[in-house]
Amino acid sequence: MEPSRLPLLTPTESPILSGADYISSLRGRNLNVFYLGERIPSPVDHPVIRPSVNAVARTYDLAVEEPDLATAWSPLSNRRVNRFLHITTSPEDVVAQNRMQRRLGQLTGTCFQRCVGMDAINALFSLTFDVDRAHSTSYHDRFLRFLVRMQCANFTLGGAMTDPKGDRAKSPSAQSDPDVFTHIVARRPDGVVLRGAKMHQTGCLNSHWLLVMPGTRLRDNERDYAVVAAVPVDSPGLTYIYGRQSCDSRTLEHGGIDLGNPQFSGQEAMIVFDDVFVPTEHIFLDGETEFAAPLVDRFTAYHRRSYVCKTGVGDVLIGAAALIADYNGVASASHVKDKLIEMAHLNETIYGAGIAASHESHPTAAGNFEPDDLLANVCKHNVTRFPYEMARLAQDLAGGLAATMPSERDLENPETGPKLRKYLKGRDGVSAEDRARAVRLIENMTLGRNAVGYLTESLHGAGSPQAQRIQIARRMKLDEKKQLAKNLAGIKDPAPQPS
Ligand code: SF4
Ligand code: FE
Repeated sequence: MEPSRLPLLTPTESPILSGADYISSLRGRNLNVFYLGERIPSPVDHPVIRPSVNAVARTYDLAVEEPDLATAWSPLSNRRVNRFLHITTSPEDVVAQNRMQRRLGQLTGTCFQRCVGMDAINALFSLTFDVDRAHSTSYHDRFLRFLVRMQCANFTLGGAMTDPKGDRAKSPSAQSDPDVFTHIVARRPDGVVLRGAKMHQTGCLNSHWLLVMPGTRLRDNERDYAVVAAVPVDSPGLTYIYGRQSCDSRTLEHGGIDLGNPQFSGQEAMIVFDDVFVPTEHIFLDGETEFAAPLVDRFTAYHRRSYVCKTGVGDVLIGAAALIADYNGVASASHVKDKLIEMAHLNETIYGAGIAASHESHPTAAGNFEPDDLLANVCKHNVTRFPYEMARLAQDLAGGLAATMPSERDLENPETGPKLRKYLKGRDGVSAEDRARAVRLIENMTLGRNAVGYLTESLHGAGSPQAQRIQIARRMKLDEKKQLAKNLAGIKDPAPQPS
């Protein structure tokens, strides 16, 4: 696309530069958000939600602090853009995404929520190109216009793919309630109307725009389900129902020790689409059912290797485990060292597969680069297993205190405080309070609020383990491998029989 044809910012959109700018940009939106049965008028200032906002804000600050890591030159908008909004132009760009994700995992110890949008735009870049070639549509050009606007404003994009799915044995058109898969319910001359819901939406409230995408293969008669659309987060008709996270309400209490990670958390919410209008200019697929499955495959090839984010979080957990061993005075015990080595081995095995998937990227017809699907699925499959073992090892090193430690309020109480400071201190030179902070961080990541991101999201995010096994089965080239075995074993295939 010619740069001169690209739209510039709309007058109301000035680019978001820092984390503080980003937090301001979330204020004053009239979102329909519910948490614990109540409407939350200003989610950004809600103490339970704010740590998730801080995690996204950190992505903006990293782009200022380390531009080589977290920004890239975009030929589309002819400017430097946040890497989360960048279309990959080389395998190095794909690898750089993983490096940035690991760093952000280290800095936040949780899910920083922006990878879904990054992976969605890269999948849609090549998908819209291919749909246009097959159907003479003009989705790609329309998508680029939208994307340039996002890059210039430096917006956060959320991806919305997972439908409620109703009866899992039935396809969308066979469901008794057609709305359990998001679909078009009305067409107008200037756009379409969407109804349905999306589940487990990472960072949706913290985004400016959502990319709505189908999450499953579709049949010819399911054209109204084959829709990709960009929707502003504050569109009329959208309702957000915030998910509960383990220990989330501790943020309503005073103090910081019991929170483990007071500053950062992830965010998951359910989004309900009650007849949301989408103008034609924001529709990037409409009815081309045969492209639903390739979209899911492309998105997951990106997103499953994006889960190297959990290795950054794993770095924090390994650090916390080493810290508590040190505080307990057992840092040099051989079994302690061995457990830390095992944790590092598991963590780097995840990273190894993810970064390999990115290094093995291939060019698409549209000109961007897509990770290797088999290695991406191996990465994500490792993520469904290894953090659980790492959590077990961290809890082993932390001891039972992770589940029994009295609260910060008890530390402050004039009667119990001195007793706790006396009996909860570790080796000489380590205060009870620092020991409590290290234990609470391990609790936060393995049992508490950020265990949602480190364990459950690792298991189910970007597809549950079976989804990766299906994709690994598709890509493992078993016939080629059997032939290799036959070659070495001297087994000759029988000559084909004349029919
Ligand atoms: Fe990014 Fe990881 Fe969060 Fe997914 S789980 S959005 S890959 S940080
Ligand atoms: Fe997620």
